[in-house]
Amino acid sequence: MAQRILVTGGAGFVGSHLCARLLSEGHDVLCLDDFSTGSERNAGPLLERRGFALIRHDVTAPIAVEADAIYNLACPASPRYYQADPVRTLRTSIEGALNVLALAETLGVPVLQASTSEVYGDPAEHPQRENYWGNVNPVGPRACYDEGKRAAETLFSDYRRHRGVDTRIARIFNTYGPQMHRHDGRVVSNFIVQALKGEDITVYGDGRQSRSFCYVDDLVDGLVRLMERGAPGPVNLGNPEEYSVRELAETIVNMTGSTSRIVQRDLPVDDPRQRQPDITLARELLGWAPRVPLREGLARTIAYFEGVLAEPA
Ligand code: NAD
Ligand code: UDP
Repeated sequence: MAQRILVTGGAGFVGSHLCARLLSEGHDVLCLDDFSTGSERNAGPLLERRGFALIRHDVTAPIAVEADAIYNLACPASPRYYQADPVRTLRTSIEGALNVLALAETLGVPVLQASTSEVYGDPAEHPQRENYWGNVNPVGPRACYDEGKRAAETLFSDYRRHRGVDTRIARIFNTYGPQMHRHDGRVVSNFIVQALKGEDITVYGDGRQSRSFCYVDDLVDGLVRLMERGAPGPVNLGNPEEYSVRELAETIVNMTGSTSRIVQRDLPVDDPRQRQPDITLARELLGWAPRVPLREGLARTIAYFEGVLAEPA
C-alpha cells in the first residue's frame, strides 16, 4: 500500500537513492534535509517526480510532519565533514535521534536509524557480528561520529523497550556509488576523481587497511527490507568482500586506464585497520545479500563521475 515516507538526509548520497527507490514503488516521499552535505544535484531530479516533497530543516530541531514511516539518515558521513564541526555532528546524531523518535512515538509509526560499522571502532573481532560491542576511542577525532551513532542506537533501543516505539537499526558498512559528492573525501570517490583527473592517488598509510565496499542499490534494498520486515536489529548491511585500500587504488587505476601515480599520505588518527561485515543475520531475517560485484559497481560510479567532471566547473 502506498505510504507517505519521511527520509531525513534525503538529499545526501544514500538518501537520494532511497528516495528514488521509494518513489518508484509508488510511495509519497518527504525529504527533510539541511543541505549541509547534501546537494541540489541529488535533490533536483527528485523534485521533478510526482509524490516528492522537500523541506529544508535541521534534525536537531523538533519535527512536526505527517508520515507513515521514517528513515533517519541525516548526519554527515565522511570523516572530512563529520570532523569539521564535531560538536554539531554529535548533536545531529543525538538530538536528531531524539526528534525522529519523538515524532515516531507521536504518530505511532516505524522508524529506522542509519547506524554504521563505525560503532565497532577499530574492531578486535573479524569479521564483525552484531553481538560484538566494538573498540571505540571515546576521546579521539572520530568519536563525534562513532559515539554519536552509538548513543543514537541506545536511544532507539530505549524508546523501543520503554516507550513501545517500533524501531529498526541498520549498521551500514562502507557504501559507494553515483551521487557521492565529488569532494566528499571518502575513499572510492576520492580515488575515482583523482584517477579521472590524472592526479596522484592518495593512499593513506601503507594501504594495507581493509574495507568492504557495498554498492548503493544493494544497501538501499537492505534498508527497505529492514523497514518492511520490521526486525529491530541491529542488522549489519554491507558487502562481505574485503579489499585493502591499496588493492582498491590499483583496481581503479586499472579500470580507468589512468596515468595517475599511487602515492602515500599520513594515516589519519584512529583509522580502523580492518572492516568486514558478517551478514548472516541479514540473510536470515531479510533474505538479503548484496548482488553487485565491486568491478561492476565501480564501473557505474566511474561513468557517473566522468559525467560530473565533463560539466563546466
Ligand atoms: P551524506 O553526507 O551524503 O548525506 C547525509 C545527508 O544528511 C546530507 O544530505 C546532509 O545535508 C544531511 N544532514 C546532515 N546533517 C543534518 C541535519 N542536522 N539536519 C538535516 N539534514 C542533515 O552521507 P551518506 O553517505 O548519504 O550517509 C547517509 C547516512 O548513512 C548517514 O546517517 C551515515 O552516517 C549513514 N552511513 C553511511 C555510510 C556510507 O558508506 N555511505 C556508512 C555508514 C553509515
Ligand atoms: N583513504 C585513503 N585515501 C583517501 C581517502 C581514504 O587511503 O583519499 C582510506 C582511509 O584512511 C580509510 C579507508 O580509505 O582507511 C576508508 O576511508 P573512508 O573515509 O572512505 O571511510 P571510513 O574510514 O569511514 O571507513
